[in-house]
Amino acid sequence: MKPDNMQNDNNQKNLLNIARKAAEKSNCRRRRVGCVIAFDKTILIESNNGTPDGIQSCKDGGCDRCLSGIPSGESYESCLCMHAEQAAIAQAAKMGKQISGATLYCTLRPCLNCLEICYSAGIKTIVFDDYIKFRPELEEAYSSFVNQTKFELIKIQFYYGLNDS
Ligand SMILES: [Zn+2]
Ligand SMILES: [Zn+2]
Repeated sequence: MKPDNMQNDNNQKNLLNIARKAAEKSNCRRRRVGCVIAFDKTILIESNNGTPDGIQSCKDGGCDRCLSGIPSGESYESCLCMHAEQAAIAQAAKMGKQISGATLYCTLRPCLNCLEICYSAGIKTIVFDDYIKFRPELEEAYSSFVNQTKFELIKIQFYYGLNDS
Protein backbone atom coordinates (compact mmCIF):
# COMPACT_ATOMS: atom_id res chain seq x y z
CA MET A 1 0.00 0.00 0.00
CA LYS A 2 1.13 3.53 -0.73
CA PRO A 3 2.10 5.64 2.30
CA ASP A 4 -1.29 7.33 2.29
CA ASN A 5 -2.45 9.27 5.29
CA MET A 6 -4.61 7.69 7.98
CA GLN A 7 -7.80 9.27 6.69
CA ASN A 8 -7.35 7.83 3.24
CA ASP A 9 -6.57 4.45 4.75
CA ASN A 10 -9.76 4.58 6.83
CA ASN A 11 -11.75 5.63 3.79
CA GLN A 12 -10.46 2.58 1.92
CA LYS A 13 -11.40 0.31 4.81
CA ASN A 14 -14.86 1.85 5.12
CA LEU A 15 -15.54 1.39 1.43
CA LEU A 16 -14.26 -2.18 1.52
CA ASN A 17 -16.56 -2.84 4.45
CA ILE A 18 -19.47 -1.67 2.33
CA ALA A 19 -18.26 -3.94 -0.47
CA ARG A 20 -18.26 -6.81 2.04
CA LYS A 21 -21.87 -6.05 2.96
CA ALA A 22 -22.73 -6.07 -0.75
CA ALA A 23 -20.96 -9.45 -1.06
CA GLU A 24 -23.23 -10.93 1.59
CA LYS A 25 -26.21 -10.32 -0.74
CA SER A 26 -24.64 -12.30 -3.59
CA ASN A 27 -26.74 -15.19 -4.91
CA CYS A 28 -23.73 -17.27 -6.00
CA ARG A 29 -23.41 -20.64 -4.24
CA ARG A 30 -19.65 -20.84 -4.89
CA ARG A 31 -18.22 -17.54 -3.82
CA ARG A 32 -19.58 -14.21 -2.65
CA VAL A 33 -17.83 -11.11 -3.93
CA GLY A 34 -18.88 -7.50 -3.55
CA CYS A 35 -17.68 -4.23 -4.96
CA VAL A 36 -18.15 -0.51 -4.72
CA ILE A 37 -17.28 2.22 -7.21
CA ALA A 38 -16.55 5.55 -5.54
CA PHE A 39 -15.08 8.97 -6.10
CA ASP A 40 -13.27 9.78 -2.86
CA LYS A 41 -16.00 9.03 -0.26
CA THR A 42 -18.97 9.25 -2.61
CA ILE A 43 -20.35 5.86 -3.58
CA LEU A 44 -21.74 5.63 -7.10
CA ILE A 45 -22.34 1.90 -7.43
CA GLU A 46 -22.61 -1.14 -5.17
CA SER A 47 -22.75 -4.58 -6.70
CA ASN A 48 -22.03 -8.24 -6.19
CA ASN A 49 -21.41 -11.35 -8.25
CA GLY A 50 -24.07 -13.87 -9.18
CA THR A 51 -26.68 -14.56 -11.80
CA PRO A 52 -28.23 -11.39 -13.26
CA ASP A 53 -31.87 -10.40 -12.71
CA GLY A 54 -34.20 -12.57 -14.78
CA ILE A 55 -31.96 -15.64 -14.54
CA GLN A 56 -32.63 -18.36 -11.98
CA SER A 57 -30.55 -17.69 -8.89
CA CYS A 58 -27.22 -19.52 -8.67
CA LYS A 59 -28.17 -20.43 -5.09
CA ASP A 60 -31.22 -22.29 -6.47
CA GLY A 61 -29.16 -24.17 -9.03
CA GLY A 62 -29.39 -21.59 -11.80
CA CYS A 63 -25.75 -21.96 -12.85
CA ASP A 64 -24.54 -25.42 -13.92
CA ARG A 65 -20.93 -24.35 -13.74
CA CYS A 66 -21.22 -23.27 -10.12
CA LEU A 67 -23.15 -26.47 -9.31
CA SER A 68 -20.34 -28.61 -10.71
CA GLY A 69 -17.10 -29.36 -8.91
CA ILE A 70 -15.03 -27.33 -11.38
CA PRO A 71 -11.99 -25.79 -9.65
CA SER A 72 -12.07 -22.10 -8.82
CA GLY A 73 -11.11 -19.88 -11.76
CA GLU A 74 -11.92 -22.45 -14.46
CA SER A 75 -14.66 -22.55 -17.11
CA TYR A 76 -15.76 -18.97 -16.61
CA GLU A 77 -16.97 -19.00 -20.23
CA SER A 78 -19.88 -21.28 -19.28
CA CYS A 79 -20.67 -19.51 -16.00
CA LEU A 80 -24.01 -17.70 -15.72
CA CYS A 81 -22.75 -15.74 -12.72
CA MET A 82 -21.34 -12.32 -13.49
CA HIS A 83 -18.34 -11.08 -11.57
CA ALA A 84 -19.05 -8.22 -9.16
CA GLU A 85 -16.85 -5.83 -11.16
CA GLN A 86 -18.65 -6.67 -14.41
CA ALA A 87 -22.00 -6.19 -12.71
CA ALA A 88 -20.80 -2.81 -11.38
CA ILE A 89 -19.72 -1.53 -14.80
CA ALA A 90 -22.97 -2.81 -16.36
CA GLN A 91 -24.99 -1.10 -13.64
CA ALA A 92 -23.16 2.18 -14.25
CA ALA A 93 -23.91 1.93 -17.97
CA LYS A 94 -27.56 1.14 -17.32
CA MET A 95 -27.93 4.06 -14.92
CA GLY A 96 -25.87 6.44 -17.06
CA LYS A 97 -23.35 7.09 -14.30
CA GLN A 98 -19.96 8.61 -15.08
CA ILE A 99 -17.33 6.36 -13.53
CA SER A 100 -14.20 7.35 -15.45
CA GLY A 101 -11.50 8.23 -12.92
CA ALA A 102 -13.33 6.55 -10.03
CA THR A 103 -11.81 3.88 -7.79
CA LEU A 104 -13.26 0.39 -7.54
CA TYR A 105 -13.18 -1.46 -4.22
CA CYS A 106 -13.52 -5.22 -4.40
CA THR A 107 -13.48 -7.92 -1.74
CA LEU A 108 -11.41 -10.17 -4.04
CA ARG A 109 -8.43 -9.67 -6.33
CA PRO A 110 -9.94 -8.94 -9.77
CA CYS A 111 -9.47 -11.42 -12.62
CA LEU A 112 -7.79 -10.33 -15.85
CA ASN A 113 -11.10 -9.93 -17.72
CA CYS A 114 -12.47 -7.64 -15.04
CA LEU A 115 -9.24 -5.65 -15.02
CA GLU A 116 -9.57 -5.11 -18.77
CA ILE A 117 -13.21 -4.07 -18.49
CA CYS A 118 -12.50 -1.68 -15.60
CA TYR A 119 -9.55 -0.14 -17.40
CA SER A 120 -11.60 0.40 -20.54
CA ALA A 121 -14.36 2.03 -18.48
CA GLY A 122 -11.82 4.55 -17.14
CA ILE A 123 -11.10 2.93 -13.76
CA LYS A 124 -7.35 2.88 -13.20
CA THR A 125 -7.26 2.03 -9.49
CA ILE A 126 -8.65 -1.01 -7.70
CA VAL A 127 -8.43 -1.56 -3.96
CA PHE A 128 -9.04 -5.17 -2.98
CA ASP A 129 -8.84 -7.47 0.01
CA ASP A 130 -8.73 -11.25 -0.48
CA TYR A 131 -5.84 -12.44 -2.61
CA ILE A 132 -6.11 -15.31 -5.03
CA LYS A 133 -3.20 -16.57 -7.06
CA PHE A 134 -3.74 -17.39 -10.73
CA ARG A 135 -1.95 -20.06 -12.76
CA PRO A 136 1.53 -19.01 -13.97
CA GLU A 137 0.66 -18.11 -17.59
CA LEU A 138 -2.28 -16.04 -16.39
CA GLU A 139 -0.10 -14.27 -13.83
CA GLU A 140 2.28 -13.41 -16.66
CA ALA A 141 -0.46 -11.89 -18.82
CA TYR A 142 -1.81 -10.11 -15.76
CA SER A 143 1.56 -8.50 -14.98
CA SER A 144 1.99 -7.49 -18.60
CA PHE A 145 -1.42 -5.77 -18.57
CA VAL A 146 -0.78 -4.01 -15.26
CA ASN A 147 2.69 -2.84 -16.29
CA GLN A 148 1.65 -1.51 -19.68
CA THR A 149 -1.46 0.28 -18.44
CA LYS A 150 0.18 1.42 -15.17
CA PHE A 151 -2.92 0.10 -13.45
CA GLU A 152 -2.84 0.71 -9.71
CA LEU A 153 -3.78 -2.36 -7.66
CA ILE A 154 -3.80 -1.85 -3.92
CA LYS A 155 -3.98 -4.90 -1.68
CA ILE A 156 -5.44 -3.90 1.64
CA GLN A 157 -4.72 -5.89 4.74
CA PHE A 158 -7.98 -6.29 6.53
CA TYR A 159 -8.50 -6.77 10.20
CA TYR A 160 -10.98 -9.58 9.81
CA GLY A 161 -11.65 -12.22 7.23
CA LEU A 162 -14.85 -13.34 5.61
CA ASN A 163 -14.30 -16.80 4.28
CA ASP A 164 -16.45 -17.81 1.41
CA SER A 165 -15.85 -20.38 -1.22
ZN1 LIG B 1 -22.50 -18.86 -9.13
ZN1 LIG C 1 -13.56 -11.02 -12.69
